[in-house]
Amino acid sequence: MSTVLVIGAGGVSSVAVHKMAMNAGIFTDIHLASRTKAKCDAIAASVKERTGVDVKTYEIDAEEVPAMVKLIDKVQPSLVVNLALPYQDLPIMDACLEAGVDYLDTANYEPKDQAKFEYSWQWAYHDRFKEAGIMALLGSGFDPGVTSVFTMWLKKHKLKTIRTLDILDCNGGDHGQAFATNFNPEINIREVTAPARHWENGEFVETPAMAKKVQFDFEAVGPKNMYMMYHEELESLAKFVPELERARFWMTFGDEYIKHLTVLQNVGMTGIEPVRFQGKDIIPLQFLAAVLPKPETLGPTTTGKTNIGCIATGEALDGSGEKTFYIKNICDHEDAFAETGNQAVSYTTGVPAMIGSAMVVQGLWKGQGVFNIEELDPDPFMDMLNAHGLPWTVEELAAPVDF
Ligand code: NDP
Repeated sequence: MSTVLVIGAGGVSSVAVHKMAMNAGIFTDIHLASRTKAKCDAIAASVKERTGVDVKTYEIDAEEVPAMVKLIDKVQPSLVVNLALPYQDLPIMDACLEAGVDYLDTANYEPKDQAKFEYSWQWAYHDRFKEAGIMALLGSGFDPGVTSVFTMWLKKHKLKTIRTLDILDCNGGDHGQAFATNFNPEINIREVTAPARHWENGEFVETPAMAKKVQFDFEAVGPKNMYMMYHEELESLAKFVPELERARFWMTFGDEYIKHLTVLQNVGMTGIEPVRFQGKDIIPLQFLAAVLPKPETLGPTTTGKTNIGCIATGEALDGSGEKTFYIKNICDHEDAFAETGNQAVSYTTGVPAMIGSAMVVQGLWKGQGVFNIEELDPDPFMDMLNAHGLPWTVEELAAPVDF
């Protein structure tokens, strides 16, 4: 028996709420609030049609802490699931602290006026959450989220230590648009235009954005160019797997995506500094996001698969020397759409958000303070991945990666 309050009504939220409704034995009472109530109502209508479950909906500006506290007091959830944008992480955490309720998210805090995301702001809440006797679970999406749990599962079951780690995120989907992002365009473009950073010998090494490109043959997708970039789980993995000599994150992008992004960057459309236009300040990137296709509209036309996983090399647990393992999930865009009405990028994030929520509300993951997903037992989460639409495989590779 548990009541959950989900904040945000985009693609990720839509998947998470559908999957919660499909697990009504765990999530007995589902509430959904976002800035635009009509979007909550549309999700609730789809959930009702697909599962018969009622979802209660509300309008909320999650940056208004007193309004959030009032909503939490009214709903009395055991967990607030933040599937709005990274900008709202801190106000929602403030509201949870005041109301004394557990918190979960899928992306770390990012201030609106700086293209910078890191865990420091949220880690700073640890003592206050601990004193309040409540738990914040950070990063329960796919990456961060499943990639972090994959790594910790390898560390629990296959490798005593992990020397090198490569996270490979491939979206082999085709949405039929010249240029579109698969999740929130503003967050996505801020992420890919930031300088690349990887962990090497105890420190982060910064290189220009999209400067290192490697071709990799992805199972079920085929050969794709992937680019080294910074991703937030590198920060938490470097902390919780302290023996890591090197950790890198790679994401695939097609030539068309790179071409469009380069032009948009060159003409200043990805900037986050306000520009005076017709007597009003506008942020170019926010305007660009407003004219790009909405990620939640891409579902009906997207075909192909995602393939996301981790390649880890280290000392084998069984004492057989250095070994390399590749652990991954392959997800089909059309299957994801048929099940929840959303494409696979939202699906691969929304399902782990539901699973992380299930871990917390069932008490399988317990704690007082702020926790990254790497700090919890990977096993029950990995079991639920297999059972709820994101099955994974693990194989031993003959040698470490040489790119
Ligand atoms: P969307 O932009 O589709 O949805 C965001 C939702 O948040 C929208 O409904 C939006 O409202 C709502 N929102 C924005 N501001 C506020 C506010 N002040 N108060 C209340 N609601 C607000 O994003 P996605 O669904 O694609 O992504 C959701 C989250 O998941 C993001 O934080 C993203 O970074 C994260 N993510 C994580 C991944 C992972 O693997 N870990 C992968 C992909 C995404 P409105 O509809 O009015 O705009």
